[in-house]
Amino acid sequence: MLRGIHDLRGRRFGRLVVMVDGEPEVRNRNAYWPCVCDSGTRKVLRGCDLLRGAIVSCGCQRADTGVRRNAARKGCMIAPRATKRDG
Ligand SMILES: [Zn+2]
Repeated sequence: MLRGIHDLRGRRFGRLVVMVDGEPEVRNRNAYWPCVCDSGTRKVLRGCDLLRGAIVSCGCQRADTGVRRNAARKGCMIAPRATKRDG
């Protein structure tokens, strides 16, 4: 048994499900779990990132994570059109 590691097998985080028969890989004192996204993509992800909701998909649903807010358009402001003066 692995001590100090939350057993996340079979748990769902957003679109990701930790593989039921998955074995966690321990790297740098973090557990990495094999997950399957609803889109069918397999990924090995850090358990703590799953638990705190930092990762909710393989990347196919990035909009869900609120990244969109940070990626607010910059430099895309529409310049107000110069109005012609009468005369
Ligand atoms: Zn996906």
